[in-house]
Amino acid sequence: MRSTRRPKIRKSITPSQFRNFIFGGRSVFTLENKGTGSYITFKIREIKKKGKVVPNQFAVNMKSLGDNDSGYSMLGFLDIEKPYFKAWGHVDRNHVGYKTLYWLLRNLESLENFGDLVIYHEGACCKCSMPLTTPESIDKGIGPVCLDRMLSGSINTLKDLNLWNDSLSYDDNIRAALKVDPTVWSKVHVPDYIKIEDDNKGHRLLGRLGIL
Ligand SMILES: [Zn+2]
Repeated sequence: MRSTRRPKIRKSITPSQFRNFIFGGRSVFTLENKGTGSYITFKIREIKKKGKVVPNQFAVNMKSLGDNDSGYSMLGFLDIEKPYFKAWGHVDRNHVGYKTLYWLLRNLESLENFGDLVIYHEGACCKCSMPLTTPESIDKGIGPVCLDRMLSGSINTLKDLNLWNDSLSYDDNIRAALKVDPTVWSKVHVPDYIKIEDDNKGHRLLGRLGIL
């Protein structure tokens, strides 16, 4: 069944939604700078070898609206654990995509501070890239099946770390786990309203990308 003909609905997402979205595996998003009126679209895809996902590794493609070429161009490879970014071919440090990506990763935990920034998803699930159809999934940028899968993955992670308590709700478990081990921040789906408190600053895996 092909679904590519269904119209896709672009929607803005909050920085906290975006932090759960960006490394979903098949995320496509557009950044708008309201100050300059410029747009740039990124596609960040998990890398597979022999059909298996390589953890923490992503291929990054981009396109800017000014491009006559409507297709994407390869920007490079990102490893969010090491962390490092390896630029592709002609891409150098002055490349707009390169500069924007670095800025984005460096400021991922503080995007709320940039009033001119709007982040949009392109109407497709960040994990499987199928079109989003229900209001809740359009709001979050992830489809219901993928969300369930992501939540049960997070629960298993907490169980493995002995940080899961059956008598608490998911959100309360996350909150309790973050207090015990702030590095959990980078391993599980964190609900939108749990904000970065000073306690957690710098502990999220993504926060470490600042050293790039
Ligand atoms: Zn999905």
